[in-house]
Amino acid sequence: MAMDRATPLTLKVDALDNVAIVANDGGLPSGTLLPAGVPGAGLVLREGVPQGHKVALRDLAKGEAVLRYGVPIGYAREAIVAGSWVSEARLEMPSARTLTDLPMATRVAPHSAGQSPRTFMGYRNADGSAGTRNLLAVTTTVQCVAGVVQQAVRRIEQEWLPLFPNVDGVVGLEHSYGCGVAIDAPEAVIPIRTLRHISLNPNFGGEVLVVSLGCEKLPPSRLLPPGSFPIQAGRGADAAPPGVCLQDSHHVGFMSMLDDIVAQARPVLERLNARVREPIPLSELVVGVQCGGSDAFSGVTANPAVGHMADLLVQAGATVMFSENTEVRDAVEQLTARAATPEIAQAIVRELGWYDAYLERGRVDRSANTTPGNKAGGLSNIVEKAMGSIIKSGSSAIAHVLAPGEKLRPDQKGLVFAATPASDFICGTLQLAAGMNLHVFTTGRGTPYGLAACPVVKVATRSDLARRWHDLMDFNAGQIADGRLSVAQAGEQLLEQLIAVASGQRTWAERWKLHNALVLFNPAPVT
Ligand code: CA
Repeated sequence: MAMDRATPLTLKVDALDNVAIVANDGGLPSGTLLPAGVPGAGLVLREGVPQGHKVALRDLAKGEAVLRYGVPIGYAREAIVAGSWVSEARLEMPSARTLTDLPMATRVAPHSAGQSPRTFMGYRNADGSAGTRNLLAVTTTVQCVAGVVQQAVRRIEQEWLPLFPNVDGVVGLEHSYGCGVAIDAPEAVIPIRTLRHISLNPNFGGEVLVVSLGCEKLPPSRLLPPGSFPIQAGRGADAAPPGVCLQDSHHVGFMSMLDDIVAQARPVLERLNARVREPIPLSELVVGVQCGGSDAFSGVTANPAVGHMADLLVQAGATVMFSENTEVRDAVEQLTARAATPEIAQAIVRELGWYDAYLERGRVDRSANTTPGNKAGGLSNIVEKAMGSIIKSGSSAIAHVLAPGEKLRPDQKGLVFAATPASDFICGTLQLAAGMNLHVFTTGRGTPYGLAACPVVKVATRSDLARRWHDLMDFNAGQIADGRLSVAQAGEQLLEQLIAVASGQRTWAERWKLHNALVLFNPAPVT
């Protein structure tokens, strides 16, 4: 039932919660009667509660846990009467979690993955994976060649693409790596394997064209060593991908380099063009979820809807990966408890512990994460913020853990924690390397974010943003705050939209050709 803007509306995420969030623009004044059908129905607010802030649904004793997302986000400093504003000042923050004495695989959701009869129209790859797009990838070994590759991509688009209607586009994989870096530093393994695995993304159909310079530290043989390039019909196990080296002596002048790349693209385009979309089980979807430009509604509307969508996907046998180390760190005990096995829980601890040490080396204080904007918006502390972020992952058991830049095997299904920084572009880049073929991105403040290699379905946390950015946002989860959709309904609708996009329906970012640069995570020194 739709409610007008003036109807008081509260939202609660978990049945255990003893607080709800005020959804109305401008908050609700003291004396407001919460109407039938909303959490806290019949309660009268004892004081004004700002939008996005918490109201106590029942009397809370001093020291009692304040439950949001079904977990303690703090403890009442004093007794709090039902209908009161549970402000930051009234909450004792839970003590910081160390990475010891964590619950390991103690709260594992029952295994519910089955083979869904539903399909999407995708491209089947030789290794068993599937693409949602059929893209020609031009991968690069070094930043030096980026300008040449950009011009070559433009020429391929203009001269060849009209002849190959089954190819969705041409993607130049330009990046900042390849030279001027300590390539043998232990942690250089991360950017190197990231570039290798992006080149093998399922949306490229097991094909790639390599453009190198000739004197770089990362030569083609190190980017894609023998055996890493997929075996396909007519191609042996030690096959090297086709490539162009700009310093080759047969290149005389800039045009000969461009001509060479454009000519080398033709047979790859012919092979890609022979592919057609076919019905593929939902289990071949590899959906990366992340958030950026979050607001108070991220954890109330968009992220819970994405979480429900994630559960539906995992139940259908698909893969969902969530990431963003600094956004999940303070909810670590939720993650380790949900791990499918103690070994997987240990892998979560290993990745988050590694990232703690990485931050410490940079002398960063992660307790400074919560911003004044977060607090004004109703997020009292980092625990509450983290819980609002990890709700995107739904409730399934965590089945796999990936270190930054690692790639899933096609048989690794279910919910995956792919450890990455929270930076939108770095997270997206690493999820592409992990094998993502579809991306879901939630935002409250708004961002035009997009990726060239993969469709990005952007989800607005509130209707105001969805209205203003009507040709950038793909889905409006603000309908939950408006009382027009339940979280479950929004998650179901989002899944339908995902299937349509996976089958070829273009996202707003694709229609406008908006995409961000690949940004590598390189914890190793540069020289
Ligand atoms: Ca992010």
